[in-house]
Amino acid sequence: MQGVGFRPFVFRLAESRNLSGHIRNTASGVTIEVQGEPSAVNDFLLHLGQEAPPLSRITNITTRELPVVPETEFSILHSQGGEGVHTLISPDVALCADCLREMLEPADRRYRYPFINCTNCGPRFTIVRSIPYDRAQTSMAVFPMCPECQAEYDDPHNRRFHAQPNACWRCGPRLELRDQAGTRIECADPMAGALEKLQAGQVVAIKGLGGFHLAVDALNPVAVRLLRERKRRVEKPFAIMVPNTAAAEEFCVIDDAARRVLESVQRPIVLLPRLSSSPVAEDVAPGHRELGIFLPYTPLHHLLFAQGKFSALVMTSGNRSEEPIAIANQEAVARLRGLADFFLVHNREILLRCDDSLVRASARGVRQVRRSRGYVPLPVFLKEEQPAILAVGGELKNTICLMQGKQAFLSQHLGDLENPEAYKFFLEAIQHLQNILEITPEVVAHDLHPAYFSTHWARQQTAVRLVGVQHHHAHIASCMAENHLEGKVIGLALDGTGYGTDGKIWGGEVLVADYAGFERAAHLEYVPMPGGEAAIRDPWRMAIGYLAHHFGEEVHQLPLPWLRKISRRKIDTLVRMTRQHINSPWTSSCGRLFDAVAALTGIRQTVTYEAQAAVELEAAMGDATDHRAYPFALDPSDGGWVIGTRPLWETLLRDLDKGVPQSVISLRFHQGLMDVLAETVQLVRGRTGFDRVCLSGGTFLNKFLSTKLTSRLASAGFAVYTQNEVPAGDGGLSLGQAMVAAAQVRGEALLLPDGNAHALA
Ligand SMILES: [Zn+2]
Ligand SMILES: [Zn+2]
Repeated sequence: MQGVGFRPFVFRLAESRNLSGHIRNTASGVTIEVQGEPSAVNDFLLHLGQEAPPLSRITNITTRELPVVPETEFSILHSQGGEGVHTLISPDVALCADCLREMLEPADRRYRYPFINCTNCGPRFTIVRSIPYDRAQTSMAVFPMCPECQAEYDDPHNRRFHAQPNACWRCGPRLELRDQAGTRIECADPMAGALEKLQAGQVVAIKGLGGFHLAVDALNPVAVRLLRERKRRVEKPFAIMVPNTAAAEEFCVIDDAARRVLESVQRPIVLLPRLSSSPVAEDVAPGHRELGIFLPYTPLHHLLFAQGKFSALVMTSGNRSEEPIAIANQEAVARLRGLADFFLVHNREILLRCDDSLVRASARGVRQVRRSRGYVPLPVFLKEEQPAILAVGGELKNTICLMQGKQAFLSQHLGDLENPEAYKFFLEAIQHLQNILEITPEVVAHDLHPAYFSTHWARQQTAVRLVGVQHHHAHIASCMAENHLEGKVIGLALDGTGYGTDGKIWGGEVLVADYAGFERAAHLEYVPMPGGEAAIRDPWRMAIGYLAHHFGEEVHQLPLPWLRKISRRKIDTLVRMTRQHINSPWTSSCGRLFDAVAALTGIRQTVTYEAQAAVELEAAMGDATDHRAYPFALDPSDGGWVIGTRPLWETLLRDLDKGVPQSVISLRFHQGLMDVLAETVQLVRGRTGFDRVCLSGGTFLNKFLSTKLTSRLASAGFAVYTQNEVPAGDGGLSLGQAMVAAAQVRGEALLLPDGNAHALA
């Protein structure tokens, strides 16, 4: 990987053992030639693997003997750009302990300098225009180094040797404070100015590593409410940044796994159980039992907390609703107009936008929810060699994937493509990833949904072969790929929306699949979604859809308090639409089932962000302990099974009538769904003999379902595989699409005359 201090490390290692030779980046990776005493050469090799710098990763070392040549020095040769240099660009890395110490040391020449960095830390991916990773190819190119910085940069013994973003007060980027119109505010210390505004309860847009954040004091309820109202009252939770792990312990339950992830160099936002004593303002994450929390990762962030003025700051993406995060100064002023009171900006350009990553901590490391800054552009390592394929993902929470050899490169989070800004970002990401990786795809893989923007784009590509991949098949293939599985598995793909091979909306699917194809072994029953998209925004419509489907006109007689708030005419219309199938597409979506239960229980009738009802339904469970599960039906159909919900509604409605608390209803629902899924998977095993199960799809962000179902299946003798390295939601789709396309290109599936390979259901 470039920019992680590997070459200077090798230089020092060779020098200390009196070895001559050189190091350079080549097409096959890093090549090192050393010459000297045999014992010294062996010693060099031994330490090469053991002492490599923290950010480097050695995948393998091969050695061979060379004839002796006349030379006396060890040198670092220039990296050869262009043709096939396959050393990777590093992700952005959190400020290291050495740089932090220097920045807080009054005698240091970089005292309080917000852009201090070295080879062990700092920006990489977000400041690179193209390869090789040299200063000239980064947004630091416009800052010629002062003699002192240059001397550090040239000295192999210095921590800043070849640190491309190396800079100081004299030669590097500077902060600037601007008002809401973008006019520069004259002040000696823009950082102090910004802190004052934050203390006064104002909203400050802060330029970070991969984009702007909107910041307010997280403990000031008035300030947080102001930000929420300006962000159009959307209820999506805000992340908070705290100065260190000790501070995090005031807000959340922190165990060892959480501590490791919080303090990791990737510094993702970690979703952690919130303490009831947490002093954070209620509006930070309304209706949530978890908080998204992260630690400072740039020197600028550390300076925000250095004077102890705040114990937590809201740091939410600088955007409006689902637009991509703003990155350029003028763009931010324009796009965040009316949201921010002040702008803390700087003159180092962000070349590539990259949101904060969002993860859960697990004993094995992280479980990705949104894989972005800190992880991208590191590849997912694959088991087998693969052809060059570009997969363009889905529609919401889009990522793309560029695959070649044994590596799959997923892009950062690109957003919801129905948003024009996000679509532009999608186009940029396709170009940029191909540039920095020098991969030219021969095949483009896409979703089957004809209306997705990603599908549209793919279908405009005429020079490549296209492969359409069914949404849930892609989810399962993604899970298989990161777990290095081959052959057939049972795949449980649960989510909100995915286009089925029968044109209906799938989402509660049990597949028998390998990379090349799949068979639909079982699914949730089809029910009408009255009003189509409107039923996604308004879970109450979905509840009426389910009830009208199962009980017809009786809906009116149901003793549901929330039902009385909706006009009789509206309900009649929905019942008629459902019964007569007018503008009511069929769906087997698991997300819609969660929506209907949440609405029926009175938890959430209308949502302002994706999966809100499901998240709140899970949170409503609280510490309920009743373990009587709601019943589901499991009926044979077409050689498979259909999971029916009529018994669920009958029991749930009786519970509502009896005044059973929401927490207990939520628990019984979760328990019942888990039971019927486990039972279905066992039936599929009985029929096929397969005992490996892959769990994927956005529903598995539900902690109860993912952990309890995993242990239930494991105790029934299944090998259970989940998604960790890539998201289980649609952010992980592109990896699965690429793997399916690779298998189909290898001719393992029937190709239809239109050039698209379809799954063989
Ligand atoms: Zn450093
Ligand atoms: Zn300097």
